[in-house]
Amino acid sequence: MIEIKNLRKSFGDICVLDDINLKINNGEFCVLLGSSGSGKSTILKILSSLESFDSGEIKFDNESFKSQIPNSKERQIIMQHYCLMPWLTALDNIKFALKCSGLKNKKLIDDIAKKYLSLVGLKDKMNLYPNSLSGGQCQRVAIARALALDPKVLFLDEPFSALDPVVRANLQTELKELTKNKQVIFVTHDIDEAILLGDKIVILHAGKIIKELQNPKFTPNTPKYFELKSVIYKLINGEIENIEYMI
Ligand code: ADP
Ligand code: MG
Repeated sequence: MIEIKNLRKSFGDICVLDDINLKINNGEFCVLLGSSGSGKSTILKILSSLESFDSGEIKFDNESFKSQIPNSKERQIIMQHYCLMPWLTALDNIKFALKCSGLKNKKLIDDIAKKYLSLVGLKDKMNLYPNSLSGGQCQRVAIARALALDPKVLFLDEPFSALDPVVRANLQTELKELTKNKQVIFVTHDIDEAILLGDKIVILHAGKIIKELQNPKFTPNTPKYFELKSVIYKLINGEIENIEYMI
């Protein structure tokens, strides 16, 4: 379980996260949804040790942290720009991450790296360098690299927003399958993506959580779906007066 209590963060005089409170259960897929600048990436950076915080508490299971989360292989982040090493092949990118995590057995490293590349459908591309792979394939390598470390928690920051719609749709479905038993926090500004993926949808506006809802998982393109989408749209834009909706 991840528990965030009274989290605050400012950059200089500007408060970008204002009293964030959130619980994410084991196995839960949580989507943070908000427009640009609402504070989504800052939350993920704090959770994945890339940024400190000013006050509040963050708990991973029973470990409690104040001001800075230590780096751990248990928590992996995947960004929009895949951050692969251009001078390493797809396979070597994953092997490198495994070595850095402390694994020493070469055969084991090779087996794990190949297994996860196969899982994301890239077995036949393992010897290619990132510049010979498409955007979708690079993101698959980044996903395989994160999963190969067998983290408890996976953070994803708009991982599919640079991809074309078909590749994006495929990866959305695959990600859901690959992360079945993990805690996931997935950041997006795309309402359809949030409704497709989230068990829980957390809506941020100007550094505050303004609504947290269990996803009713309506069938896409039905009246209920459109109604939900339009309420979420208003919430994202800070029009919070008329949220007397059933959610
Ligand atoms: P989002 O991911 O929702 O677009 P961010 O978390 O990236 O939002 O940013 C939230 C706010 O914090 C923005 O106003 C942004 O300009 C500001 N911000 C983010 N990182 C920094 C930084 N390192 N220094 C100063 N301001 C920052
Ligand atoms: Mg962002």
